[in-house]
Amino acid sequence: MKSIAKRTFFCLILACFLLFGVLTFVIRYFLYADRWVSFTGSPHVYTNGRLDTGEILDRSGTVLYSSETKQAYAESQTVRRATLHLLGDRAGNIPARVLRAYASKLFGYDKLNGTAAMERSGGKLRLTVSAQVQAVAMQAMNGRKGTVGVYNYKTGEILCAFSGPTFDPLDPPDLETDNADGRYDGVYIYRFFHAAYTPGSIFKLTTLAAALDQLPGLREERFTCTGERIINGQRISCTKAHGEQSLRDALANSCNCAFSEIALRMGKDALSAQAEAERLTESIELDGITTSRGKFDLSDAADNDLASAAVGQYTDLVNPCQYMVFMGAIGGGGRAAEPYLVSGAESGGKQSYAAGTKETPRMLSDEAAATLKELMRHNVQKMYASVDIPGAEVCAKSGTAEVGSDANTATFAGFLDSEKYPLAFIVIVEEGGAGSSTCAPIARDVLQACINVLDGE
Ligand SMILES: [Zn+2]
Repeated sequence: MKSIAKRTFFCLILACFLLFGVLTFVIRYFLYADRWVSFTGSPHVYTNGRLDTGEILDRSGTVLYSSETKQAYAESQTVRRATLHLLGDRAGNIPARVLRAYASKLFGYDKLNGTAAMERSGGKLRLTVSAQVQAVAMQAMNGRKGTVGVYNYKTGEILCAFSGPTFDPLDPPDLETDNADGRYDGVYIYRFFHAAYTPGSIFKLTTLAAALDQLPGLREERFTCTGERIINGQRISCTKAHGEQSLRDALANSCNCAFSEIALRMGKDALSAQAEAERLTESIELDGITTSRGKFDLSDAADNDLASAAVGQYTDLVNPCQYMVFMGAIGGGGRAAEPYLVSGAESGGKQSYAAGTKETPRMLSDEAAATLKELMRHNVQKMYASVDIPGAEVCAKSGTAEVGSDANTATFAGFLDSEKYPLAFIVIVEEGGAGSSTCAPIARDVLQACINVLDGE
């Protein structure tokens, strides 16, 4: 009797383990099943690392990727190169994050019928980007390293997210032999989402967003620049003595003396709070992509460091996508739409996903946004008239970030003050010299291309 009781006890224990195992599996199945089927190695979805079914289209219906064709990627070599980082390469050095995130929506996979429910054709993923705009961005960048981003700050649609350098996924370079001149350095990095740059003077917009709320009457003040200031024995200098200026001319002149004075009066905490409101040191998640964090840390900053941080130097780093969203928030009166890349998915003729617009938290007050808009518009009229597009009211700020070497990072960011074309943008060119001369013409070409695409819709 004793041994039977013992056996019953062991059977009970075994049954408990079995039940626990089954429960764990069922729970995990419902939580993760779509990830299991759509992981890159899944034979149901991918063949030799290639998407086995479906199509990826740009906002105008241009096929960027199709399992129906032998080469899979777009027909045009220009489009293939211009959209490389969105779609990934065959070797997996550039991961196809967007595709992976939406695989289950694209293939009509469902949890009860599994992959048997998958349509072998007809799956479509629609992106918000325009292949035409991406191609214009690539041509304007002309082989230089950096990124060009444009998005609609009212809806969140990203029209352009170009990263250079790039290559044709059907003819990838061999980095052992083809990169002697460094032209492919960092080519696997999707710079728009996964890089962080020293911003230089575009960061004066962050400083001003904080100061306009902190220092009442700032808009009417005048600033005197003698060409340099010494703070804690360190020199903050301007390209020349700007003399006496209004606030808007101090921004147009990108006067480091005026902005260091503003930063010291305002103090560390207000500037740090503004960086936090802009989420500069956070990642944002969109369509399977997690953006890189920027950096803004004044914890050990002395006065000279604070002055340097306020003009986009010191240890400041911004992620291009994040800072573009801040530009959208200025254009949008303090808040913007969260950016996204996928507008919809269909499978078996039925819609399986449709994107919706989400708003960001408030990044600056509506008064500060209105004043910045006015100042940035003045900037373009006074300093970068060549970038202006009739009927589109370009508002912008340039930057030339010192990054330790002789070569500066050129930056240019802003938005269109336009109901019809509510576009925010950022252009960054590594080793690009001055932002106004290098990046402004790129921004003009790409914004014009965006307007042409929107007019055609
Ligand atoms: Zn100055």
